[in-house]
Amino acid sequence: MQFQWYPGHMTKAKRAMQEDIKLIDVIIELVDARVPYSSKNPDIDQLANGKSRILLMNKYDLADNVITDEWIKYYENKGYFVAKVNSKNGRGVKVVHDIIQKACKEKIERDRKRGILNRPIRAMIVGIPNVGKSTFINSFAGKACTKTGNKPGVTRGKQWIKLNKSVELLDTPGILWPKFEDQQVGLNLAFIGSIKDELYNIYELSLLLIKYLIEAYPEVTAEFYDIENSTDEVQLLERIAERRGCIKSGAQIDYDKAAKYLVDDFRSGRMGQISLERPC
Ligand code: GDP
Repeated sequence: MQFQWYPGHMTKAKRAMQEDIKLIDVIIELVDARVPYSSKNPDIDQLANGKSRILLMNKYDLADNVITDEWIKYYENKGYFVAKVNSKNGRGVKVVHDIIQKACKEKIERDRKRGILNRPIRAMIVGIPNVGKSTFINSFAGKACTKTGNKPGVTRGKQWIKLNKSVELLDTPGILWPKFEDQQVGLNLAFIGSIKDELYNIYELSLLLIKYLIEAYPEVTAEFYDIENSTDEVQLLERIAERRGCIKSGAQIDYDKAAKYLVDDFRSGRMGQISLERPC
């Protein structure tokens, strides 16, 4: 599914987004709350020039709440309207209606002064693959939404979801590409499962994840697996393997199986609410 971007794809996606952005008033950008920096595409800042900006920390149920709040302040200071949402169970999603009104206050005021009443605010959702765009749209728009057809001249070829009297949402989200050049970004996206598993070695990935956890959440693996703690990544993985019965024939440790357990337990949130980066 993800991240098989080539320059041609990127150029095409960029152009399509540029066209869509012309039609809208506010961009609602989704990032993964565990990696708000790594899951954010810097190019959108340029593309979104002059539009109101809302940034949603999606999947906040999986992230460390204290750190998510730090990120919220960080991005608010940069001029975004920010909120945390859980698109999967809908928590925080309704608030986005109010945030849209706040973010578009100036536009509404401008329209009112010009005597333009009831012109709906138009919004679009953007984000890198797997960040939760479709889940958010389903949760936000709900079942009651009515799709509006092609209004000649204004929205030709575009489908809009009428959220209420004053807001319309473009029904297809804009797919952004990640910052490929940055290795740490690639690693963070691999940790959260946004890069095809075949593209990396699960054993190596698990050791890098354990290394991070030892530094940032020193107790979490020992507590979760109920094993003796260690500051050695391989030793911790071996203890996890023993605890989970990851043993191959000949009483050999099955490192890959243990690695998969660990990475899955992290990604699903079973291990706890863990963030992979903090604002600096
Ligand atoms: P898209 O590629 O950006 O459209 O992402 P999807 O909407 O397909 O979501 C990707 C995965 O993330 C799916 O398995 C969703 O169930 C999951 N997901 C989306 N939002 C949330 C959330 O807020 N919390 C959790 N835990 N999972 C979520």
